[in-house]
Amino acid sequence: MKKDNCIFCKIANGDIPSRKLYEDDNFVVIMDLGPATKGHSLIIPKDHYANLYEMPADLAGEAMKLAQKMAIKMTDALKADGFNLVQNNGEVAGQTVFHFHLHLIPRYKEDAPCITWTPQTVSGDELDAIKDTILK
Ligand code: AMP
Ligand code: ZN
Repeated sequence: MKKDNCIFCKIANGDIPSRKLYEDDNFVVIMDLGPATKGHSLIIPKDHYANLYEMPADLAGEAMKLAQKMAIKMTDALKADGFNLVQNNGEVAGQTVFHFHLHLIPRYKEDAPCITWTPQTVSGDELDAIKDTILK
């Protein structure tokens, strides 16, 4: 299923050009036009799902398998020192394109993108309460 006016539907289905690293029946992998680091790419399903919540579980699993394959290939080819997988859901989480995508971000000793965070101080009681909320 495609969604009208969705840029990643158009890319995934070949309606607008992109630099493709991989393609199969379900996914394309394209180079990000505004890369965080050298080689930053995106796994994009050909069908339209706005985010992880909407993805069928099987397809989400396939996306992770493909991420592993691409991470191994890209780390080797680009001589990267590490790798981040990033996947944003919702505006508050930094999502700007509302068609599921998984960022493949090779990392290098000398790079400087900001993908980490400052740990908050939290008590054991607070952690227990959050745990109970999630599990109830
Ligand atoms: P997010 O903020 O997680 O929604 O990520 C959207 C990503 O899509 C950003 O890293 C953009 O640089 C990238 N992007 C947006 N438009 C294009 C495009 N036409 N081709 C390749 N990457 C794109
Ligand atoms: Zn779409």
